[in-house]
Amino acid sequence: MTPLPLNSTIGILGGGQLGRMLALAAARLGFRTHIYCPDPQSPAFEVTPHKTVAAYDDEAALAAFAAQVDVVTYEFENVPARTAEILAGLKPLRPGAGALAISQDRLQEKSFIAGLGIPVAPHRAIFTEADLAIALGALGTPALLKTTRLGYDGKGQAKVTELTPALVAFATLAPHPLVLEALVPFVREISVVAARGLDGATAAFDPAENVHRDGILATSTVPANLSAATAAAAQEHAAAIAAALDYVGVLGVEFFVLADGTLIVNEIAPRVHNSGHWTEAVCITDQFEQHIRAIAGWPLGDPRRLADVVMENLIGDDIAAIPGRLRPGIRPHAYGKAESRPGRKMGHLNRVSVQNREK
Ligand code: AMP
Repeated sequence: MTPLPLNSTIGILGGGQLGRMLALAAARLGFRTHIYCPDPQSPAFEVTPHKTVAAYDDEAALAAFAAQVDVVTYEFENVPARTAEILAGLKPLRPGAGALAISQDRLQEKSFIAGLGIPVAPHRAIFTEADLAIALGALGTPALLKTTRLGYDGKGQAKVTELTPALVAFATLAPHPLVLEALVPFVREISVVAARGLDGATAAFDPAENVHRDGILATSTVPANLSAATAAAAQEHAAAIAAALDYVGVLGVEFFVLADGTLIVNEIAPRVHNSGHWTEAVCITDQFEQHIRAIAGWPLGDPRRLADVVMENLIGDDIAAIPGRLRPGIRPHAYGKAESRPGRKMGHLNRVSVQNREK
């Protein structure tokens, strides 16, 4: 369990903004990065000394990549199982393939979390059209019909109130099986970004309160409007999930909060998380450095928060506002994407509430 030496090379699968921010953090800690992504226009390529442009199923390219790196991590959860298996056979893959497999499948994820005694939304697996009528009767309407795999930013799901539209949604959504979830009457949505080191130590950032617009994260506000007990419980749940997965790295856990403070896990992401971007402006260690430290076998950093903050995602043409919005307390981050498209995450702003410390 020796810590990765300075100047080692960290391999990152995926070249989006999360890979880019991981590469920047790795550089600051004295590591090199090698980013592997099929898209030659990947924003992370601009900030890495080494890159591979190849498909995730190109076994020769994967082997060549593995030969040039000391540890492999990833910025997205849909890494194909075979890709993970090949890389894990050649170099340490952190987080491991088990965490990937569970988070890639909503049904497995829910069973796993419920098995830890942490509540998830009432749900049923839907294998056939016949399952739908029974499940709608059991869970009530409206309910949400979701794909078990490959959903993100609210894609791959449909709100259903009656059987006939539910059958249409069943025919449209793929791959099967699907999962039907009861609509959770939450008062707010929060997330906890937590880390687990190679030595088993855990550290959780404060919970963030998240607001979505059109299925995409719009803002994360910290502190979240929660009692101290609920905030602590959310952090404990995230650390318990990380420990049960024998996890190494940073993970994001999304929760629904009910009026009485009950926490229900919506989903987990085995990677740095959009709702953790506020940490770069106000925490002693941010989520990107924390992830690199964890996968390098370094001690975890201090996740304490020094100020209140609102992280605002810049979607599509919002990015054009960056120069005009730079007031005191605002930290901008642009992802360097060449082309802005509606719904595309282009950057974010952290609005820091700077305290008056002169008294
Ligand atoms: P997901 O893709 O599962 O993260 O869902 C995207 C968003 O849909 C969540 O952030 C919630 O706002 C909403 N949502 C998902 N599942 C449920 C549910 N079971 N009950 C209520 N709202 C939900």
